[in-house]
Amino acid sequence: MVKIYIDPGHGGIDPGAVGNSLYEKILTLKMALKIKEYLEEYDDVQIKMSRTGDQTRSLTYRTDDANAWGADVYVSPHINAGGGVGYEDFVYPGVGQTTLAIQDAIHSEVIKATGFNDRGQKQKNLHVLRESHMPAILTENGFIDNSGDAAKLKKDSFLNQIAQGHVNGLVKAYGLKKKAVSKPSTPSGSLVHTVVKGETLWSISQKYGTTVANLKKLNPGAKEDALKIGFKLNITAGAKYHKVVKGDTVSALAKKYGSTLKQIRDWNKLDTKYTIYVGQNLKVLG
Ligand SMILES: [Zn+2]
Repeated sequence: MVKIYIDPGHGGIDPGAVGNSLYEKILTLKMALKIKEYLEEYDDVQIKMSRTGDQTRSLTYRTDDANAWGADVYVSPHINAGGGVGYEDFVYPGVGQTTLAIQDAIHSEVIKATGFNDRGQKQKNLHVLRESHMPAILTENGFIDNSGDAAKLKKDSFLNQIAQGHVNGLVKAYGLKKKAVSKPSTPSGSLVHTVVKGETLWSISQKYGTTVANLKKLNPGAKEDALKIGFKLNITAGAKYHKVVKGDTVSALAKKYGSTLKQIRDWNKLDTKYTIYVGQNLKVLG
């Protein structure tokens, strides 16, 4: 179990940096709530936040709260100001290997997820880094007073990318594993999966308990290497129809498609003799 304390910078009467009609306290809260949401997809993680709304929190409150809870790691997202561009993060001067490894992981993953200008991994004597009793990192995610950074920070999708970078770093640092997705119990109705970044047919097949071969059969358009983000992938077949040709029998079709005689009879309202005719569009799979 990893106890992760997320401390969105500023809040309440302290807006933090302000610029380009943006308030640091609002951006840090949005990022922190997303970090929490993404982390909840992982096993063996506990999350606590210094604030989940626009509350005023003293620096002492924040570190006392994390210390009392017994956090394993302290992550405090901020937005920079003062004439610069891009991303940097801070740990306490002279910290040990554990904290440096966490800084490495979060730093590289945020840069990867956002494409931010990289201002480097830094060390600074700051209250939340000094008074917290666990590895602690403070991230400065773009400059609110830089028009280029501000334009990005105005988009929730970009704040989500920043959050994803933080989470990817924590996942890497602590070897977190995604929660198992419950497999669909019945193949009735078709199940569609929307491809997200980094997925392969293999990883999707594992997620749903199917095989790459099945996915290829159901999605002739999806090439293994060209899985586009946002592609709607059929996971289960859904209903299937068979055009009856001469010589077909219901029992042979049931066997071929893996359904039962009774299912085929019910779906197609056949008579008790299972009468079918050539050219009939017969539902053979539910
Ligand atoms: Zn700040």
